[in-house]
Amino acid sequence: AKELGRNSYQFYAAAMNEFSLERLRLEKHLRNALERDEFILHYQPQVDLTTGEIVGMEALIRWQHPELGMVPPDQFIGLAEETGLIVPIGAWVMRTACAQNKAWQRSGLGNLRIAVNLSARQFAQENLVESVASVLAETGLAPQLLDIEITESIVMTDVEEAVNTLNAFKALGVKLSIDDFGTGYSSLSYLQRFPIDVLKIDRSFVADITEGADKGAIANAIIAMAHNLGIDVIAEGVETEAQCDTLSQNMCDQIQGYWFSRPVAAETIETMLQEKKTL
Ligand code: C2E
Ligand code: CA
Ligand code: CA
Ligand code: CA
Repeated sequence: AKELGRNSYQFYAAAMNEFSLERLRLEKHLRNALERDEFILHYQPQVDLTTGEIVGMEALIRWQHPELGMVPPDQFIGLAEETGLIVPIGAWVMRTACAQNKAWQRSGLGNLRIAVNLSARQFAQENLVESVASVLAETGLAPQLLDIEITESIVMTDVEEAVNTLNAFKALGVKLSIDDFGTGYSSLSYLQRFPIDVLKIDRSFVADITEGADKGAIANAIIAMAHNLGIDVIAEGVETEAQCDTLSQNMCDQIQGYWFSRPVAAETIETMLQEKKTL
């Protein structure tokens, strides 16, 4: 029996592909990353198309792994989500981003909005709104300077529950954005029920906007519909001057993308704000 157990273990081990071993290794490292202080936030400016000025920025996490180097979020957010590690990691992001924004405000760099991404697992947390409220209280950041980004699929999973959570956030005074808008399954009729301040047009539609009238139709329809509902629009992934000009002509409110700036370290944001970098 002992022999059999050993064999079946070996069989199991052999059947485990390299991918899952790599995954286990990554998971182990991810568990330690917070205490080892290996995460860092980069910030990408959001620019107002009327004034050309920076009005906010999105916080984007990076993992500075001692051996693997800079690991982009697409390579570990999914795993963090599956393992539940996203909850403490997300709490770190929220605290760090709010504290940073308050520090910029204290240094006289302006009243900017800071956008923070929430994952599905975080959104489902029982005490989510309270925990955000306590971060605001601890850091002293005004609620209206925090913008919470959630995707369509997160709010569409349980619409009733989402409406409750979003209303609680609204009562707290924070801004709410729908991220990657247009890529999910949200029924337009639900938009009215969600107390949303901003729609972020996914960059796939932004890429199409200079490719002719019919290709640009989706982005333009999103802008018109959002405005009719009293919702602002941020275009994501703006990479060219032509995209920027077309969005401006079509009344988009703000842009975010490589055309103005990639996501950068906090010090670089400070320099941009001090030098009053504009479009
Ligand atoms: P996202 O929320 O849609 O963030 C925008 C992504 O587009 C960022 O990728 C950004 O670097 C990239 N981007 C910005 N401008 C351009 C552009 O002009 N062209 C192109 N091609 N890309 C552009 P990043 O930083 O790699 O983040 C990827 C995703 O990881 C994010 O997508 C978000 O879903 C997730 N993520 C990042 N930080 C966090 C976090 O703190 N918490 C959670 N839950 N998710 C995060
Ligand atoms: Ca986002
Ligand atoms: Ca997005
Ligand atoms: Ca995304």
